[in-house]
Amino acid sequence: MTIAQSTLPTTVPQTRHLETEIPGPRSRELMEDRRAQVSNGIGAQLPVFIERADGGILLDLDGNRIVDLASGLGPTALGASNPRVRERILTQLDRFTHTCFMTTEYESYVDVCRWLNANTPGDHEKRSALFTTGAEANENAVKISRYVTGRRKVMAFTGAYHGRTHMTMSLTSKSHPYKTGFGPFSDDVVHAPVPTSPRNDPSEVGSYLEQVRAVLAENDPSSFAAIIIEPILGEAGCLIPLPGFLAGLREIADEFGIFLIADEVQSGMGRTGRIWAIEHEGVVPDLLVAAKALANGMPLSSVTGRAEHMNAIHSAGIGGTYIGNPLSCEAALAVFEQIDSDGVLDRAAALGEIAIEMLRPLVGSGVGVIDVRVRGGMIGIEFGADETFEPSGERAKAVTRYCHANGVLALTNGVHENVIRLLPPVVIDHDLFRDGLQVIIDGIRSTI
Ligand code: PMP
Repeated sequence: MTIAQSTLPTTVPQTRHLETEIPGPRSRELMEDRRAQVSNGIGAQLPVFIERADGGILLDLDGNRIVDLASGLGPTALGASNPRVRERILTQLDRFTHTCFMTTEYESYVDVCRWLNANTPGDHEKRSALFTTGAEANENAVKISRYVTGRRKVMAFTGAYHGRTHMTMSLTSKSHPYKTGFGPFSDDVVHAPVPTSPRNDPSEVGSYLEQVRAVLAENDPSSFAAIIIEPILGEAGCLIPLPGFLAGLREIADEFGIFLIADEVQSGMGRTGRIWAIEHEGVVPDLLVAAKALANGMPLSSVTGRAEHMNAIHSAGIGGTYIGNPLSCEAALAVFEQIDSDGVLDRAAALGEIAIEMLRPLVGSGVGVIDVRVRGGMIGIEFGADETFEPSGERAKAVTRYCHANGVLALTNGVHENVIRLLPPVVIDHDLFRDGLQVIIDGIRSTI
């Protein structure tokens, strides 16, 4: 395959450069101020203050150019200063910043819904609703499922992350840090396990689907409104359900009249080399939730589903003051133009090929890497013991520290905090991406 290379103009030189230690003096000074003013509950993965960001580089206030392998947790897939996003936002800024779409309308909201209706899986008639955050859209997907089915319960999965609001905290499976001290949670939520490599082999998919059936049976399948799943479980460390699992869930959902919700907040909008990660499995969900890269860093989220379901809700039953902000809608339209014409999907796939070439040889080579999971620009490097898969969060953290000190933003996640999860901007320059991955590899070798 010919690898698509980024050709977008950038506002920041696309090379890694260390001017000071990281964090530098200016960032350290501002961190003091942050501690004095900002709630401690808001965590900080890399205590560095940013001056400019674009392409694959974050330029900090001390003049360090850090390789961005996180895209602001996924949204800035087209670079944090994408020219077409900027242009559309600027034009809209001169018109108005807000009217509230439920009060008076604007065209861009409708245009974003049109694109989502046409570009989400399934050729049935669809309608969409726009919101602001991923959690808010998931909340609404659950509300719509409950309204239409007249049922209460929801099945989610072990390792799932769906947000930090009450319902989405309940759907999220990992306790710390997301749930500690914040209960009570919804007792209408149950969790089931997902089969993933390398712990499971493809022949086990059937027994995992049996477990899903067993959990439903225990809780009365006819009381379930929805099964919600991330087609790739991002915060769990880019866990990819084994082939056939999502299709099996589709069958089970159909059998019991339950909605299948695909939470594509992290995996969607081209990151995996297809517009939606669920397309890799050829499965059509009832509701598809998008956010993050939908508007390349501007707050925007969506729920798309069958017209008869989305239209069933009474008028003003769903909504909110800031739903589908006009600046965010313009940013989304700029993203769609680039997905349609700029080879975004090929770019994401090309990053995956580079990651496979450079990182896969680490698995089983005696450096404590037990798996490298890659779907385009969604990449997880898992640390642990070769034979037992005993997770090693310490290794992941040590490698992450090495990366940060050497000017690469790579983040740790996973159920056991033993995964380095990479979500590079899809437009990152290939040499820069290779440089970033080489720093990770050096970090892995030097922290054994
Ligand atoms: N779902 C998934 C799969 C996510 O990865 C996230 C964010 N990490 C969310 C929902 C929540 O999105 P937000 O932070 O915009 O509320």
